[in-house]
Amino acid sequence: MEHAHSFIAGRHYLPGELTASPVYNPANGQVIGQVDIIDTAGLDAALQAAAEGFQKWKNTSAYERGRILQDAARLIRARKESIGRIMTLEQGKPLAEAMGEVATSADNTEWMAQEATRAYGRLLVPRSADVEQTVRREPIGPVASFCPWNFPALTPARKIAGALAAGCSLILKPSEETPFTAREIVQAFIDAGVPDGVLNLVYGKSRHVSPYLIASPVIRKISFTGSTAVGKELLELAAKGVKRSTMELGGHAPVIVFDDVDPVKAAQQAAASKFRNAGQVCTSPTRFYVQAGVYKEFVAAFAEAARSLRVGDGMDASSQMGPLANSRRVQAMEELVDDAIGHGARLECGGAPGEGPGNFYPPTVLSNVPETARIMSEEPFGPVVPIASFDTIEEAIQHANALPFGLAAYVMTRSLARASAMSNAIEAGMVAVNYFTVSTPASPFGGVKESGYGSEGGVEGLDAYLVTKSVTQRIAGDDLQPSGAA
Ligand code: NAD
Repeated sequence: MEHAHSFIAGRHYLPGELTASPVYNPANGQVIGQVDIIDTAGLDAALQAAAEGFQKWKNTSAYERGRILQDAARLIRARKESIGRIMTLEQGKPLAEAMGEVATSADNTEWMAQEATRAYGRLLVPRSADVEQTVRREPIGPVASFCPWNFPALTPARKIAGALAAGCSLILKPSEETPFTAREIVQAFIDAGVPDGVLNLVYGKSRHVSPYLIASPVIRKISFTGSTAVGKELLELAAKGVKRSTMELGGHAPVIVFDDVDPVKAAQQAAASKFRNAGQVCTSPTRFYVQAGVYKEFVAAFAEAARSLRVGDGMDASSQMGPLANSRRVQAMEELVDDAIGHGARLECGGAPGEGPGNFYPPTVLSNVPETARIMSEEPFGPVVPIASFDTIEEAIQHANALPFGLAAYVMTRSLARASAMSNAIEAGMVAVNYFTVSTPASPFGGVKESGYGSEGGVEGLDAYLVTKSVTQRIAGDDLQPSGAA
């Protein structure tokens, strides 16, 4: 896949002193390419391009913007397989899953293409017949967006489509660990006709790029997906310039399983969701609380489902789960599992990293996990499942809301009353009952508490890039309004 260069104002940017970082295939540790590390002159060029691009793009009609985004969605969909292959090579997830992510990226882009024409304002009822008062929605300005490595197509696509639909320009910084997928997504928007400077791509060291872009007066909004720890750092930087922020941060989704469900079916359904992307999903079901009456059967069925998963190189069509995206995650799994066992948890299956090259860690199930084990409060972001039991609904609610996170939460029950009580009581941005898909293009995707604020997707995803302007205009009479009126 050779070399990923930053792309600024419609052309590749080559830093004065060319420095690059290797990109690895997590399935075998081999270097598959290099990514440029941008210099300060490059960041200045990106800021200038975004400032100029914004002037062009905000004056492009919303219908034309929507048409270009529709074309981008079509191109992304048409390139599903080639982009999927690139993603599997640099991120590790199985090819079918990677292609699914690319298709979802197209769906989200298409949704925003349609929303572009719905940034409605309103006409107020004036207090005087001489005056007309309107409320307008306008694009906030150039945006800096920072993406992680776990969804290297979907996260950039969501951020690009939302900003561009609203009329904003963008500087996108993907993870330097998965640069090639993001490059393909950007290319689809460029090929669809996004003008030079409106969409810029920079690769570099986060510690250099983020503070520099966020401090610039050109940037009016930041959007970040990643860990809560980094989100807090970026929010501090944004606060200095009173910049609007959308933060999609970590989660630790509780799964509450009541004893009125079939424990085997529930475990199979939950396992299918849990091991998607090897558990490296911010909405992944991660803390399982199972009511005592079905606890044993649930644990046994979950362990069985975990054991039967075929783990291997994502390019192999028989693999159902690939490697972890980087060696940091393998180390984190080892530490969390050792700690849980040290606290008295029982290892049902898995529990040791694979031998040989690649960041492989097996699907792992732990039962009888006490609340004091680190994994019950630290997001595992990997294929490890801690399961504990509970007795009453009050206890379940207490567990669900015990952490500072509030991204996704899952409930499994056949009782409508329990389903309603739980979805009302749980503090989370997204709740799913007897279902494990919390995100669609039309639904707002985002968290509460330390899982962040703001949403991507849904009408909220467009709103995130708009500011409100109230305009009061005299429309009758010759006199100017008397002074002192507010
Ligand atoms: P990390 O906290 O260093 O980085 C998380 C992400 O933020 C990475 O993509 C990284 O490239 C990016 N990042 C780091 N510093 C940044 C900065 N100053 N400016 C902009 N971006 C920056 O840790 P990591 O080892 O890459 O991931 C570990 C943890 O991050 C996981 O356990 C998980 O909790 C969280 N995470 C969450 C998501 C999500 O979708 N919410 C995605 C990836 C990682």
